[in-house]
Amino acid sequence: MTGKTKIAAKTFLKKGKLFQSIKGMADILPIDQDYWRSFWQTAFKVSSRHGFYFIETPILEPASLFEASIGATTDIVEKQMYVFKTPGGDRVALRPEGTAGVMRSYLQHRLSYFSLPLKVFYLGPMFRHEKPQAGRYRQFHQLGFEIIGDNSAFYDAEIILASLDFFRALGLNDLILKINSLGCRVCRLAFRQELKNYFSAYKKELCPDCRRRLGRNPLRILDCQEPSCRTLKSGSPNILDYLCQNCNNHFKAVLELIEDNGIKYELDPHLVRGLDYYNRTVFEFVSSGLSFSLGGGGRYDYLAEIIGHRLVPAVGISLGLERIVEALKIKNISPIKRKRPLVFFAAISEEAKKKSLGLMEKLRAADIPVVEALGRNSLKSQMKAADKVKSSLVLILGQKEIFEGSIIIKDLRTGAQENILLDKLVEEIKKRLS
Ligand SMILES: [Zn+2]
Ligand SMILES: [Zn+2]
Repeated sequence: MTGKTKIAAKTFLKKGKLFQSIKGMADILPIDQDYWRSFWQTAFKVSSRHGFYFIETPILEPASLFEASIGATTDIVEKQMYVFKTPGGDRVALRPEGTAGVMRSYLQHRLSYFSLPLKVFYLGPMFRHEKPQAGRYRQFHQLGFEIIGDNSAFYDAEIILASLDFFRALGLNDLILKINSLGCRVCRLAFRQELKNYFSAYKKELCPDCRRRLGRNPLRILDCQEPSCRTLKSGSPNILDYLCQNCNNHFKAVLELIEDNGIKYELDPHLVRGLDYYNRTVFEFVSSGLSFSLGGGGRYDYLAEIIGHRLVPAVGISLGLERIVEALKIKNISPIKRKRPLVFFAAISEEAKKKSLGLMEKLRAADIPVVEALGRNSLKSQMKAADKVKSSLVLILGQKEIFEGSIIIKDLRTGAQENILLDKLVEEIKKRLS
C-alpha cells in the first residue's frame, strides 16, 4: 500500500464508506493463484485423459429451471436461491448448481448428436444464500463432470474415477467415497411410504420444515441438519432394503466396478444429496480431518424428462473448489510441485529503462518469465521489489552497461554476480534457469 492509498483509505473509513465484499462472497486473491491455476490445468488435463469436453453455461438461468429440477421442497430452492426479476420482467436465478444448466444446454442444442454418451466438464461460480462457515461461501466454485446419455453402471464408476484422478493429481490421496442408492421412481415409492410412516410417529420432534416436508417429500428429512431431526434419522428405514431387482443389480454392478479399481468406500444409507433430481447411485467424497465433503453427485436419469419431456439417463459429480483449497491448506499440500524460477529486471537510468522493455520482450519470447518495477527509481527499491516476488535472478542495466553492450546478472540464490554480453542474454539466462 503506498502512502497515497493509505490516506485515501483512511478518509473513507472515517466516513464509514470503505467498500467490503458482500457477506459470504470471497475474493480469490493473488496469494492463492497457484491453487486456482492448478485447478484449471488439472481439470483440463484429467478431462482430456478421460474424454470430457469443456462446457460453460450462463450464470443466470430461468428460476423455474432450478425449481423444477432441484425440487420445490429442497433447502436450495426453499431458502438458498438468489431469484430476481430482470428489467424485462423475467424471473431468473443465479445458478445454485451446474447440472440443470448443462442438461438444459444438452436438450436445447441436441448435444446427443455430438457424442454418445456426452462427456462434459465445467468450472465456474455457483450461488447459494447459506450461512457462511468453514469452506462454505455464498459464491463458490465447482468443477463438474457429467456423462449424459447412458444408464450403464460403468459410467457411475467412470465419474468416480475421473474425480479421483483430479484429486490425486492435486495430491489428495486419502479420500473415502461414501455411496448409496436412492432407487428408481418405482422402488422409491415404497421407501417413501415407509419413511413417512416412521417419521409420522415422531412428528412432534421434527423441526417445522421437516413437519411440512413429511407430507410432500419425506426423503428431504434425511438432509436436515437440525439436531432433533438428525437423531431421528439414525433409526429410520434403510433404503437399500427397498431397492427393486433392477436397482439392486445396478448398485451391485457399481460397487463391483469400484472395488475392482481399489477404491475405498463406505455404504451410507442416509446419503440423499439434497436435490430431488437424483436417483439410483449417489456419492460423496470425504477425508479424515475435514468437517465437510469435497464433492458429490449421482445419477439423474429423470432430469431430462422433468425439464425436457424425454428420458435421457445421466450421471455426474461436482467438486467444491474452495473446499479443496481449504483441504490442501489443512493437509499442507502445495498445489504446484516445482516452481519455475523468476527473473527480475532492474534498470537504473531513464535510458536503461527505455531499453529494458525490448530486452524483456526478448526473454519472454524465449518463454522466460520476467517481472519488473520500472516505476521505481532507485536500484535499492527495485531490489526490494525483486525480493518481494521471490525472484531467483536479477538483471541490472545501467548507463555503463548500455555503453558496453552488457548487463549484470545477480543470482539471488547464491549471491554470485557477473557481467555478460547483451547478445548472449537469452542463452545465459536459460543456462542459469535449467
Ligand atoms: Zn428401482
Ligand atoms: Zn428437520
